[in-house]
Amino acid sequence: MIIRVLGCHGSELTVVDGKGGTHECRTCGFLVNEICMVDAGSVSAGLQEIEQGKIRHVLLSHAHFDHIKGLPLLADNLVGRVQNGPVKIRALSEVLDDLRRHIFNDVVFPDFTRLPTVNSAPLAYHAFDEEKAFTFDNLEVTAVRVNHIVPTVGFIVRQGDSALLYSGDTSETRRIWEVAAREPRLKAAFIETSFPNDLRDLAKVSGHLTPEMFAREFAKLGRPDLPVYIYHLKPSYRHVIAAELKRLNLPNLHVLEEDQVVRI
Ligand SMILES: [Zn+2]
Ligand SMILES: [Zn+2]
Repeated sequence: MIIRVLGCHGSELTVVDGKGGTHECRTCGFLVNEICMVDAGSVSAGLQEIEQGKIRHVLLSHAHFDHIKGLPLLADNLVGRVQNGPVKIRALSEVLDDLRRHIFNDVVFPDFTRLPTVNSAPLAYHAFDEEKAFTFDNLEVTAVRVNHIVPTVGFIVRQGDSALLYSGDTSETRRIWEVAAREPRLKAAFIETSFPNDLRDLAKVSGHLTPEMFAREFAKLGRPDLPVYIYHLKPSYRHVIAAELKRLNLPNLHVLEEDQVVRI
């Protein structure tokens, strides 16, 4: 699998990078094999028109704005030029209901599952069930409920003899670690860590992790050597969180950056 990082932060901000330059933090969007977005916080800002046209599927972990922000503009860019059927938005039915009601409701934005016509619309909703694997375009996906403040899943995404774990937004949780620990093909984990250790109370109340909490969660997997890619850092705290993560001394821990490409 080839994972292209379009955005990997918990918000958007241009930050100083420590080398005299700046770095543009964008919200979470990961492009897998050019055809499947995992979350859609960043889509249209990071991709050219031809690249956006290749996207066939979007896996949504939940309905929070920083994970869906790119969807309305992706739909807008595709409308009127749909050739191979709509982009399939795959999520829990509760999440799809929220998109229908609050985003594509003909008020905030048009219902792009029906515009310009039902047969030529750029988006279609496809609900998945928890812990029931589904397949498309050589990928096999299992969604597992995690512990956030709205209905949220993480994913196990498999292709051939490789699999990755994507945590979604989560605080302390159990089930997804059990499912991932039983995955024989697991080659990498993408795990959220949003706040520094001294903002533990804020992390808890907003359903996120700090580096200390991440370390306890990751230990549940029983694979301390597994390559782990940290994402969803709140940009204002990026340097503090990265320093706290480094002190965990995990051998294969990486803090993701925009435009990075990960191959597993
Ligand atoms: Zn988020
Ligand atoms: Zn969230």
